[in-house]
Amino acid sequence: MMQVHCLVLLSLCCGALSMPRPQNNAGVSSSDQKLAEEYLNKFYSSNAKEKSSFTERLEAMQRFFRMKVTGQLDTNTMNMMNAPRCGMPDVAEFSTFNGRPRWQTNSITYRILNYTPDLPTGVVDDSIQKAFSVWSQVTPLRFTKVNNGEADILIQFSARVHGDRNPFDGAGRVLAHAYAPGARIGGDAHFDEDERWTNSRAGFNLFLVAAHEFGHSLGLNHSEDPQALMFPTYRYVSTDNYRLPQDDVNGIQSLYGRRRN
Ligand SMILES: [Zn+2]
Ligand SMILES: [Zn+2]
Repeated sequence: MMQVHCLVLLSLCCGALSMPRPQNNAGVSSSDQKLAEEYLNKFYSSNAKEKSSFTERLEAMQRFFRMKVTGQLDTNTMNMMNAPRCGMPDVAEFSTFNGRPRWQTNSITYRILNYTPDLPTGVVDDSIQKAFSVWSQVTPLRFTKVNNGEADILIQFSARVHGDRNPFDGAGRVLAHAYAPGARIGGDAHFDEDERWTNSRAGFNLFLVAAHEFGHSLGLNHSEDPQALMFPTYRYVSTDNYRLPQDDVNGIQSLYGRRRN
């Protein structure tokens, strides 16, 4: 089964702020409880054989983020559940793609199917090219942009339902997702057009999100290293002279080897 990964911004925006917030026994509001259940179902779902409890999955989440493992929806935990992040599951059973899929060639093509109106097309082209070069600088991989026909990695900007089983959900939630290496949709990267894409620290920086998603397109999983590009949550860092963190270098070189000069 193809695995999909996405950057997610969970938002508490809702039209029900004036409603009373019912409390459950543990003093957690029902909206927080619902958010937590959705979060854990999406990112910490157990496999079919072992159905783990809500608390077990909550503790797995707290361990992943190196938080205090309380098994409770405390403030730190709720804050983390509200942080912008990638939608790929974090638990160990998802941490390697089955069979470690990777491209069997070092020469990979990509095609940008459409452009976001948020940025000039030249800026999109540059951001995408720069995002690929983050990975090609440390591996033998070479990326070539094609303008029509087949390509290994298809890139598109779409809102809501867009032809796969992972519809986007408007501004402030899922930011993007990408598929692990493989035929057809494998490797493809989709960006939520309902986000505001930028080449600055405002909105969401397309280069940074694309570089993360292309890590998935190439077969990399999330990292528990908070400094890693492949950490699940979105974090703006300066993109001037961006250098791939060492953890990500180790990861991609485990799949493709080092750059040969
Ligand atoms: Zn991700
Ligand atoms: Zn999609």
